[in-house]
Formats: sequence, C-alpha cells, structure tokens
Amino acid sequence: MNICKRAMLLALTGGILMTTGCAGSDSSSQTPQSSAADTTTTTTTAATTTTTTTTTTTAFTFTEPELKEPSEYGKVIALTFDDGPNTSTTNAVLDVLEKYDARASFFLIGNNITEDCHEVMKRTVSMGCEINSHSLTHSYMNTMKPDEIVAEMDATAKLIEDVIGVGPKFFRPPYIAVNYTMWDNIDIPFISGYGCNDWDPKVTTEQRVETVLSQAKDGAIILLHDAQGNYQTVEALEQIIPELQAQGYELVTLTELFHAKGVTPKAVEETYTDYMIYSYAEQTSTWG
Ligand SMILES: [Zn+2]
Repeated sequence: MNICKRAMLLALTGGILMTTGCAGSDSSSQTPQSSAADTTTTTTTAATTTTTTTTTTTAFTFTEPELKEPSEYGKVIALTFDDGPNTSTTNAVLDVLEKYDARASFFLIGNNITEDCHEVMKRTVSMGCEINSHSLTHSYMNTMKPDEIVAEMDATAKLIEDVIGVGPKFFRPPYIAVNYTMWDNIDIPFISGYGCNDWDPKVTTEQRVETVLSQAKDGAIILLHDAQGNYQTVEALEQIIPELQAQGYELVTLTELFHAKGVTPKAVEETYTDYMIYSYAEQTSTWG
C-alpha cells in the first residue's frame, strides 16, 4: 500500500492553488506468486519452486477519442487520478467510471509502469480516458537540475508511449512542487486541481465526497489518487460521480475540458509574464 507521508502546500502569494500531497511510488506489499502445480504431488523434491511467468500481451492501437463541438458540451468537470498505475485500485476506479459512462485523466508515475500494468493502461485509453505524466520517480523536481528534469519527463513519456502508442499531453508535478527551472524544461502544460487530501487514509469517504462536491464548478479539475489501496476514493466516487451527473456535469478528460472551453492550455503565457499551472480550464494566470 502506498502511504503518503508528506503533503506540500505551495505558499504562492495570493495563490488559489495548491491542494495536494501525493502518495509515494513504491509499492511494498505484492502478493507472492505461487505455482499452482506445487500443491498436488510434490513429495520428493526439496523446496525448490520454479515460477513460470506467463505474459499476455494484447495488440493495441491507440485511437484519439472524438471530440464534440465545444458548443455541444454543457457543464464539464475533469476528474484526475495520480500515483498509478496498479492492477487493483486503478481497475476499481475504471470500473466505477465505466458504470457511469464517465471519463477521467490519469497521471502515472513512470516507475509504477511495470509489465503487469500494461493491460490496465490499455483499458484506460480504450475507455476514452487519458494517460498523462506524474514524473518517473515522484520526487521533488524543484530541487533538480535541468538535465534531471528532462530525464524524468523523457523516461516517463517513453514508458507510456511504449504501451499505448502515444505520449502524455499534460504533466502533474509531484507534490505540486514547481519552480521556473521546471517550467523552462517541461514543454507540456502543468496541471494542479482541487483536491480533498485523499492520499491521507484518515480522510474519510464522506469527507472526500463532501469536499469534492463543494468544489465542483464548470471547468474545474478535481485531483484524486488511485494509489494502490486507496479504496476510500473508489467508494467516494460511487457517490461523487452520480451526484455530479445529476447536477448536469459531464465528466470528461483534460483534453476535452480545455476543448469544451475553447482554451489552448500552455506551460507559459506567450508574453512570458506568467507560468501556468491549471486548476480550472479558463484560468489565465498562475495566481488564478
Ligand atoms: Zn503524486
């Protein structure tokens, strides 16, 4: 289980942002694999077990989801999930999204992209959801040198592209820790969002539901986590999604969110007077 140890709130002067902390990337509780054949008639051999790994690879071709005309969208919200992929919680989140015909965006930690996660990644994009970058190592990138930042981004982009055939369009900085060196060396838009501290096991399902619903507004980006074991967020989604839909919101990917609002998201304002990290689609400055 991933347990988030730290939350970092950026002390941005007058800022509207900065909602989150994130769980770390290391998963320590894998279930040991046992070979089924061991259990029957093994009496003579010593405790030597040969584990055979069978890899099932499904052929996959990425298809860009079709977008409606911006005028055809009503109120939109982008649910986003950090710290996957994994085969448990990520699939559970996808199950709820599928049940309600909702889409979302997933920010993956490159180092979590193990071979057993490839199928869930393909399922994600097959459902019209989006896969983006949450760095390779989930470190404080605002302490890194430019070449280290670029290496984090390039490695994660390649890991994603190798599985689904297309790289990330958006970047969520680990811990929402950002600085100008990152902005100058990362050329995809930075995304923050409205969170509910759902990386913290002490935050109850009800609190998650209430916080998310209280922050809902047209064009908002909601920041959640599909870290392994975070089932309280899965439970919360069972209430959040139908309630938002009942309020008339369409749950869309980040690409759709910006498209619906006629916004071309960017990392830096064209005038270089401001660097951007979005919590909602129509945001025009870092400070909101
Ligand atoms: Zn994170």
